[in-house]
Amino acid sequence: MSLSLATLLAIPLAVYLRDPTAPPRARAPRPQPLRAPRIFCALESDDAGPPLRRTAPTAAAPPQGADAGPPSRRAAPALPLRTPRSRRPRCRLEERLQGFDAEMFVRYSNPPAFQNTDLTIVEYPDPVLRNRPNDAIEAFDDELAKLCDEMWEIMYASNGVGLAAPQVGLRKRLFVYNTDPTAPPMLRKMAEVVVCNPKILEYSAATDIDIEGCLSSRSECCCGDIRRAKQIEVEYQDVRGRVKKKRLKGFEARVFQHEYDHVEGVLHIDRQSDGDRQRIEPYLDALVDLHGDGGVLAPAPEVVAALQPPPLCGVVGAPPPAAAAAPPPKAAPKKGAAAAKKPAGFGGGGSAKKKKPKKR
Ligand SMILES: [Zn+2]
Repeated sequence: MSLSLATLLAIPLAVYLRDPTAPPRARAPRPQPLRAPRIFCALESDDAGPPLRRTAPTAAAPPQGADAGPPSRRAAPALPLRTPRSRRPRCRLEERLQGFDAEMFVRYSNPPAFQNTDLTIVEYPDPVLRNRPNDAIEAFDDELAKLCDEMWEIMYASNGVGLAAPQVGLRKRLFVYNTDPTAPPMLRKMAEVVVCNPKILEYSAATDIDIEGCLSSRSECCCGDIRRAKQIEVEYQDVRGRVKKKRLKGFEARVFQHEYDHVEGVLHIDRQSDGDRQRIEPYLDALVDLHGDGGVLAPAPEVVAALQPPPLCGVVGAPPPAAAAAPPPKAAPKKGAAAAKKPAGFGGGGSAKKKKPKKR
């Protein structure tokens, strides 16, 4: 599928996902209005808000090898930035405040503490979010089970659907998710997935674009369009160490990819289009200021270059046509009939994905 087709598919999806019953926001209109992000370790707001301004993906590839970063000065550096705060150009105050919704920034802040745990959520640009490689889980014992319980506590208290260990300051290859977090307690428990030592064995060639936000970057403040594979084949160990091999699609595949990125030191903002990155820049600035010195603003270029599927940003070049996009992501479906019916590798997964947000 070409990028333009993916974009075309994403537009009606966004329209479908918007809650028509949500009241309009009362606060003053922002120059670049947002609606709430839907997923992942992001907060999910009951306030659907005004429609998201959709940003066309970058079309032209900057020259490879050149200092061809995106307009965002954050993603431009050739190496991960450490303690660059004092070197960052000082913008005039009014420039930095343009497009910054202070009320929203505060509203999407994380609680300073959670029940039954001393863990808290760390935010961009904390270096733990960029750490790699993270440590494999080797002991599948009571201590691991207790850690997972604490992560569930934090995730549910934050109205998220996923949470990765680096987000609570731990350099571990571990995340948890539940694509149905608002189900009644028993059903909710059944839907919980603990993922240790994850691998994504295969990405479908078919991708789609949807909005993601993250608890580590104030959710709606830094949400934006992210391209993900529609289907993935994964392998991991559960909380008892049992090996699981699954084919995921739709919403669950997207959640898995978001959390998998976390254990690989990648954030969803690394995948955003240049336009989205410019829009969220005031919020990233605020987070950097809050963190102080020592933050790591971007992953290494080679990390971004290896991302699957290719990101929408122009950091390492515009996304190539799907057909040429990278080394052999095979089409996912095993069933020939299904594959023939849905050459894009999508359809059922999309429907499932669209229903989930209604439960926020
Ligand atoms: Zn996240």
